[in-house]
Amino acid sequence: MIIIFGPPGAGKSIQGQMLAARMGWRWLSAGQLLRDQKDPELLSIMQTGELVPHERTNQIMDEAIARAEGIQVIIDGFPRAVAQAEWLVNTHGHAVHIAILLDVPKEEVVKRLSIRGRSDDDPEAIEQRFEIYEQEMRPIIDYLKDHNISVETVDGVGSVGEIHDRIVSTLTEYGLTS
Ligand code: AMP
Repeated sequence: MIIIFGPPGAGKSIQGQMLAARMGWRWLSAGQLLRDQKDPELLSIMQTGELVPHERTNQIMDEAIARAEGIQVIIDGFPRAVAQAEWLVNTHGHAVHIAILLDVPKEEVVKRLSIRGRSDDDPEAIEQRFEIYEQEMRPIIDYLKDHNISVETVDGVGSVGEIHDRIVSTLTEYGLTS
């Protein structure tokens, strides 16, 4: 199991999908799996940007991981809280090989997301989301490291292909690409 972390706009999803396509692995996006439930109650929580209750999210992740039995999975958008990290370590810790932290500076994220031009993408809102990400991620990453999960930072500035190559080299160093 490979966990991929990064701020909003870091390109986690495209990188997760490229890896899955190239390696024959499975990309499991928490946001996507939650949307696929088509549960009005979940969708209304998601619209507010609040986290879906951990128990429900953990269960949905658990089912998706079980369906991928025997296939390497790339987990995107999970864990997003220490409680989720605890659950992951307690139930699947033996299977977690590495967490990749895509490192993209705030200025670059603002630049990329401003180009996207969505109404909630004004620079102030982007900066705020970035700062929330940093505050929330730090304890999760510390928790994983404290439980002997390797966390490798990968430079997330460059073209999609360059970043993909960096991720692949890091995974190769860990013997995960053969
Ligand atoms: P995303 O697709 O990552 O932008 O996520 C969309 C929405 O799904 C978020 O705003 C949350 O409401 C929900 N969500 C995504 N990941 C998680 C998670 N790990 N735990 C709880 N809720 C989540």
